[in-house]
Amino acid sequence: MKTYFRLLSFAKPIGRYAIPYILFTLISVVFGTLNLALVAPLLTTLFGINQNPNCPPEPPVKPDSYFDVFKTMNYYAAELNSKVGIQQTLLWVCVVIVSSVLISNIFKYLSEKTMENLRIHTLLNLRKSVFNNVMNLDLAYFNNERKGDIMSKVSSDVQTVQFSVTGTLQVIFKEPLTLLTYLIMLFLISYKLTLFSMLVIPVAGWLISKIVKRLKQQATESHETYGNMISYLDEALSGIRIIKAFNATPYIKNRFDNENKRYSGIIRSMAKRIQLASPVSEFMGVLMVAGIVYYGGTLITGKQNQELNPAEFIAYIAIFSQIMRPAKAISQSFSSIHSGIAAGERVLNLIDTKPTIVNAPDAKPITEFKDQIEFRDVTFGYQERTVLDRVSFSIPKGKSVALVGPSGGGKSTLMDLIPRFIEPWSGEVRIDGHNIKEYTMESVRDLMGIVNQDTILFNDTIFNNIAFGNLSATQEEVEAAARIANAHEFILAADNGYQTRIGDRGVKLSGGQRQRICIARAVLRNPPLMLLDEATSALDTESERLVQDALNNLMKNRTSVIIAHRLSTIQSADLIIVLEQGRIVETGTHIELLARNGLYRKLIEMQTFSGS
Ligand code: ADP
Ligand code: MG
Repeated sequence: MKTYFRLLSFAKPIGRYAIPYILFTLISVVFGTLNLALVAPLLTTLFGINQNPNCPPEPPVKPDSYFDVFKTMNYYAAELNSKVGIQQTLLWVCVVIVSSVLISNIFKYLSEKTMENLRIHTLLNLRKSVFNNVMNLDLAYFNNERKGDIMSKVSSDVQTVQFSVTGTLQVIFKEPLTLLTYLIMLFLISYKLTLFSMLVIPVAGWLISKIVKRLKQQATESHETYGNMISYLDEALSGIRIIKAFNATPYIKNRFDNENKRYSGIIRSMAKRIQLASPVSEFMGVLMVAGIVYYGGTLITGKQNQELNPAEFIAYIAIFSQIMRPAKAISQSFSSIHSGIAAGERVLNLIDTKPTIVNAPDAKPITEFKDQIEFRDVTFGYQERTVLDRVSFSIPKGKSVALVGPSGGGKSTLMDLIPRFIEPWSGEVRIDGHNIKEYTMESVRDLMGIVNQDTILFNDTIFNNIAFGNLSATQEEVEAAARIANAHEFILAADNGYQTRIGDRGVKLSGGQRQRICIARAVLRNPPLMLLDEATSALDTESERLVQDALNNLMKNRTSVIIAHRLSTIQSADLIIVLEQGRIVETGTHIELLARNGLYRKLIEMQTFSGS
């Protein structure tokens, strides 16, 4: 229930919808019930014709109170009948029925419109919160979660919330109200009959609760399975080349198929339960009607005092047949609400996940990088395993620092500490003598441009990929950046120049072209500090040269931290740091390190021998 109300709280301000909704519904329900109640005077009038064709009906009994709707209406109908005749009375009764139907339906429309607005508004807010929150989470979160699971939470789970949680809103406000109005009517006609028929309700309720019991757990399972399926789909689509190259399609198909089957199994079993609830309540309904017809019949044909006249009895049955609809809607929404609550919990969980790396409350923006970045005794690891062990060094402003060492030594991890993608277990990363945590993350990241081995591009135009997030970038600036990145020529040669769309992740470009666009993107930001992680390692020799030229342009007059697999490219670095298994084993310039005859020299020799 708590989940339910939290989900509703996304409809803020709820009063804007709830108050008109309740008002409209109330009017529509009251007039809707009245329609049926009007059947009684209609029939009395008609039956009156059959019973006494010539004489006017008996003088009607004045009702005790206006609350006794039936007596009141019978009274007026009969009075009218005695004054203007049957023909006219019939006409009037019909006019009243038609107007009441009209009013009821107009307000029904208004109330449904309000509800629809509320639903749309809730989902708008829910989707926005969940997406915004996902974007605020730190990178570590994404390392540990399945992407598809997040995707299914934002898309299909929110949709499920729409169908069941906000769907049941209608039921929660409206149907009990309808039910109550009907019940009052029924009591007014005959309390005996109504009490009798209500005996069946607890039995039906018990049966249905038995049926829907396990639904919530199954719903959770089904959402998780669906998330897996989306993950597989996502992986399969992004890895389609490799899948085909390795002839792994059967394996991938199989994996998807298994999950698909599991999902269908759960859905089938859930559907079975949900479907069962409806015939059961239907049967219970018929049982009640049968009982009522029998018992009501004895009330009409009662010898001593007739407790019910036939017209009332027919109106009673008419209303009673209507009562099944809200009752069924309530029982059905109980079964569908489980699925919605389960989905809602998943969505709320994601909304409640807080990033572990946040700005300190008193963090201030850093405006300028003046002196140096310093690592002091930094220790860091993933989960339990230590990856960096008491690392200390500094990156002076204007210098280039290269990180080298065997793969898995912790170079990329070390680099991730600078933009604060991750946080040290102990030790400090300092900028100009201040712990990086004293500054806001955004301002620290503003100082840096990052180029990785994986070129992250978006399915958009080349211009937008270079300007990325910088809405004020002009054509001249973008072109200047592209020139520095050696990208201008090939961009001009493309079909639509800077307005060419590059496909998902930039598939329409070659590796070297993608990389140069990434470099242009970094250049445009013009940050004082560049972080390059194996920016050329994915490239062939020819495009590597082009990219390397671009990188050299980029690093001019800038502080840079470079990780390069090809050691020849970092020989001119001001400082080379050799990392092995999370420790710094050597530091110095190329010449110094060669002279030391240590790990660096061994790495250089290995590369020279392998012929690169
Ligand atoms: P390098 O860049 O020097 O090749 P990395 O910094 O990428 O090395 O990785 C260092 C170690 O940390 C490796 O043993 C790797 O398995 C581990 N590692 C890297 N990223 C993660 C991660 N997200 N979760 C767990 N372990 C990781
Ligand atoms: Mg790496």
